[in-house]
Amino acid sequence: MATVKKTYKCGIFKPTKYKEGLLEKEYNKVQEYTQLQDYEFLEITQNIKKQIYSATIQAIGKYSKPIYNKDYPMFLRNDTFKFEVSKTKHFDYWFRCPVKGKRGGIWLPVKTYNIDLTNCKLKDSKIVKKKSKKNRIYYELQLTVEKEFQPINTSNVLAIDLGERNMAVTVSTANNIPKFWGKDIRGIRRKYNYIRKHLGEKKLLKKIRDIGGKEKKIVKQRLEEIASEIVSLAVASNCAICVGDLKGIRNSAKGKGRRFNRVVSNMPYYELTQMLEYKAHWEGISVMKIPEGYTSKTCSRCGSLNTSRPSQARFKCKDCGLDFFSADANGCRNILKRSFSYIGNDGVFVDKPKTNQELEATSKI
Ligand SMILES: [Zn+2]
Repeated sequence: MATVKKTYKCGIFKPTKYKEGLLEKEYNKVQEYTQLQDYEFLEITQNIKKQIYSATIQAIGKYSKPIYNKDYPMFLRNDTFKFEVSKTKHFDYWFRCPVKGKRGGIWLPVKTYNIDLTNCKLKDSKIVKKKSKKNRIYYELQLTVEKEFQPINTSNVLAIDLGERNMAVTVSTANNIPKFWGKDIRGIRRKYNYIRKHLGEKKLLKKIRDIGGKEKKIVKQRLEEIASEIVSLAVASNCAICVGDLKGIRNSAKGKGRRFNRVVSNMPYYELTQMLEYKAHWEGISVMKIPEGYTSKTCSRCGSLNTSRPSQARFKCKDCGLDFFSADANGCRNILKRSFSYIGNDGVFVDKPKTNQELEATSKI
């Protein structure tokens, strides 16, 4: 049985001076130790080791990978900490963090969105140091939990096409109206490409790196939002999800000029698909990848390939006269249509497309 993972990010409230001191010390010692841990027999390493909670040292050994110019997360062994619902209004949970120097660890107040641990198993847990927008330092507990993927019954299908103008377009059998997502992402990328080029001329390499990190963060956050909203829509309208397979994208970007290629082929389609998949699976929603060959050239009304693109956005069918304002939405409708051949009589996705006869037998999904 497949499993799904989810990471909850929980901000740790500023605790009392005493607790904060213990947490800070433990965290800093972990940093010192991870930088020196290759020198296992060095006296100084052994000395630092003694100053860290023993199970936390074990957790370092288990996950250790060198990280340069960055803090190393303080991994916690799952059986050493505790998570309890708070009875006060000011924060949501108490979290017991194991540290050296205090038997039983320290209880820290934590704020997060609703954590649902039903049927879940704790996986990795770690504490990372963060900086708020106001440059305040705080600690965050990242709780990764795992559960089995249990598909729910769905009566509709939501198709997602990763578009050229919009990051994604969706159409569902619950509501045939196309919805567009993430048009701003191309803009964000374009803006940062421009800044990069400008800085490149001045050879400001460090700044270019910093900006790359900032862009990544902004884009990732937007993708998370888009994926969450699409999955919420699927949940609300009782839809399974089918998404156009990525392979077609790069082909359709060919021959449209260097600038267009750079923007499109660097679009984070893969990341978005990944996020969609794990967020959907968490909710028990199946995701099927549909081959998308010709979906951008086929008329979604009559199926003809005798079509044209008067502009990058518009789509025209020379056979039935369909004149659609959005070529992306036309592609998405084709993916939705194509998905029907991947749905079994019980409403569950099947791996191989059905034959035409089988399709006719199941006139409705
Ligand atoms: Zn047509």
